[in-house]
Amino acid sequence: MKIHEYQGKEILKRYGVPVPRAIPCFSVDEAIAAAESLGGPVWVVKAQIHAGGRGKGGGVKVAKSLAEVKDWASKILGMQLVTHQTGPQGQKVRRLLIEEGADISKELYVGIVVDRVTQRVTLMASSEGGMDIEEVAAHAPEKIHKVSVDPGVGLVDGDADALAAAIGVPKASIAKARAVLQGLYKAFWETDASLAEINPLILTGSGDVVALDAKLNFDSNALFRHPEIVAMRDLDEEDPAEIEASRHDLSYSQLDGTIGCMVNGAGLAMATMDTIKLVGGEPANFLDVGGGATTEKVTEAFKIMLRNPNLKAILVNIFGGIMRCDVIAEGVVGASRAVGLKVPLVVRMKGTNEEQGKKILAASGLPIISADTMGEAARKVVEAAGKV
Ligand code: ADP
Ligand code: MG
Repeated sequence: MKIHEYQGKEILKRYGVPVPRAIPCFSVDEAIAAAESLGGPVWVVKAQIHAGGRGKGGGVKVAKSLAEVKDWASKILGMQLVTHQTGPQGQKVRRLLIEEGADISKELYVGIVVDRVTQRVTLMASSEGGMDIEEVAAHAPEKIHKVSVDPGVGLVDGDADALAAAIGVPKASIAKARAVLQGLYKAFWETDASLAEINPLILTGSGDVVALDAKLNFDSNALFRHPEIVAMRDLDEEDPAEIEASRHDLSYSQLDGTIGCMVNGAGLAMATMDTIKLVGGEPANFLDVGGGATTEKVTEAFKIMLRNPNLKAILVNIFGGIMRCDVIAEGVVGASRAVGLKVPLVVRMKGTNEEQGKKILAASGLPIISADTMGEAARKVVEAAGKV
């Protein structure tokens, strides 16, 4: 789960990370009132969307008077902000952050992720802040410094100080940088974050270390432990199909291709998508219906897949373990009828009650194409999609 910059900063502030004074706003009037109460002389008007690269896309603007605040707030609020992370359609701006202008002497980068190779939390930092860290990683990887944190002891002073020194924090500011790094690490750890990033972390003219941006993502499997974070969820920023799917306890991710996939089990779903690609197709989605799919759940899954205007054919690939193939077949037939399915449907089922399942599909009179192996199913669905 993602949250907005201003929410991320609220969390970081609780962990002792200095952030500029700022007020989130939902209207131009609120923005002006916020600027007045912050006092000048410089404000920054910042679009709040769940995507980075807002500055380059025109969503972060400096204002030097209340009139300019009003101007930028009117322009940014409601705009369709396009960044390298939103896709070409952009994301509508519904919230703003009015922030005091900071005195930037240097922009740095710090981020935390879980490193699957070392199986530890890894802190990354770079002197090249403010820009795309992926660019730095690609062109100047030597400028990214890393610390792998021992979960038993946390981020120790020595490691924090060494990292700060490596990215050019001057001696007089090392203790401040240490507090930020340790605060960031603690915030990441205690909130069950999957990503925590401050880009840029700045050194100010007076030697302070301040987070000018904040990006926190959370592990959705741990959200039950954090109702205060769940309360920060902004459904306007999420894909409507994915929200609908999560309501029905389906794991769904929309993709760019044309072939809808309905599969039980995340591993089989990934393998199914790979097989589709192997035979020249492109999956339209990832969809794991889970172990206990009922007719209702399968119907909802079909409806969600069919919202996608690019969809040309559907492949249902089920391994009947605990899940019985006859139940899935009933579900598929019921769902196809309920939604008046117009696109070709290929079904491959293996496992418990496979024969009964196949009989149900055949007896339904629906134009369902059946397949025995994954390869055959993928070839048939790609071929069927090509004819649409
Ligand atoms: P994004 O990463 O989405 O582009 P940021 O919050 O990092 O958005 O802002 C982009 C740039 O705008 C920063 O790198 C910084 O140079 C500038 N900026 C952001 N907030 C402030 C602020 N409060 N004062 C001065 N400059 C700022
Ligand atoms: Mg940023």
